[in-house]
Amino acid sequence: MKRNIAYRYRIYPNEAQEILLQKTFGCARFIWNQMLDDIQRSYEEEHKTKYPTPAKYKKEYEWLKEVDSLALANVQLQVKQAFQRFFEDEKIGYPKFKSKHHSKKSYTTNMVNGNIRLSANTIRLPKLGSIKIKRHREAPKEWKLKSVTVRQEASGKYYVSVLYEYESQVIEHNDTNKTIGLDYAMNGLYVDDRRSSAEMPHYFRKAEKRLNKARRKLSRMYVMGVEKQSKRYYKQKKRVALLHEKVRQQRLDWLHKKSRYLVNQYDYIGIEELDMKGMSQSLHFGKSVSDNGWGMFVRMLEYKAEISGKHVIKADKLFPSSQKCHVCGALNPKTKDLSIRKWVCPVCGNEHDRDHNAAINLKKEAQRLALM
Ligand SMILES: [Zn+2]
Repeated sequence: MKRNIAYRYRIYPNEAQEILLQKTFGCARFIWNQMLDDIQRSYEEEHKTKYPTPAKYKKEYEWLKEVDSLALANVQLQVKQAFQRFFEDEKIGYPKFKSKHHSKKSYTTNMVNGNIRLSANTIRLPKLGSIKIKRHREAPKEWKLKSVTVRQEASGKYYVSVLYEYESQVIEHNDTNKTIGLDYAMNGLYVDDRRSSAEMPHYFRKAEKRLNKARRKLSRMYVMGVEKQSKRYYKQKKRVALLHEKVRQQRLDWLHKKSRYLVNQYDYIGIEELDMKGMSQSLHFGKSVSDNGWGMFVRMLEYKAEISGKHVIKADKLFPSSQKCHVCGALNPKTKDLSIRKWVCPVCGNEHDRDHNAAINLKKEAQRLALM
């Protein structure tokens, strides 16, 4: 089965490349808005949705020819998709115009006849030539490079998302010896059935603290009812954006490493299906639930497992991983109270650590489901 996967890398364009990148972002936005406008008009005048092509605008606006034509062709596809989504589901909303200051700066280009080339330190993109790149991981040789999306984040840094297509392998295992159970933990990430937890690296916690401090400072600097904030405010805003991106990148790297390790070590990974939104609302955990990256971690586990022919097995939402005694199987409803971290089984008398016991149950459940 063919699947897609994206690898994200930071790039370091030189001055001339940066100018061209900005131009390309601008042209992509321009074409998007022009197309929206024309589609609206064709609908109002002829009651038909007509999708224009970039060629139409290139005649009128010569400068569009300066940038990667594939970037503009992709805008056409994106416009079409946006309308199709809107027609299928009105809740999604009518495609919006992109403003110069508030829209994301990005464009996508495709691999055509080797026009994109990756080497150890550079990426070659149409019209731009070779740009310096930091590649912290490499895709397997047999993967096919399909497209590249270039983005500039709020901090000013540039990134590329390189999209690959690969053939997913499905290997059947009948041996569930190499199974691990992971119980979600709000602090850290998980506790496994051997009682080890995924401790976040120290540097990461430190960066997070710095970010929170910078955010608080920023909100104190904000003056209500004023259109233009102070220079110091915008400076601080930029600082927050930089720190935020650093934390995000560190978290991603860490989650990638953790998930890669687990997929390499185990054939089956048992986890529970969590309702993150419901959890953070009902327990008022808010930020900490969404921010520790569990959802992203699970997605990484899943796609890495799939590529390697391993399996992530989710226990049913109703599976009582925390309530069940892993020794005798008795249920202890008292553990529904999340503040209970340690408990004694009322039936067999074994002592349990909440997370560790749950992780063992998840491991056993994964082994059971794997053999079904
Ligand atoms: Zn028991």
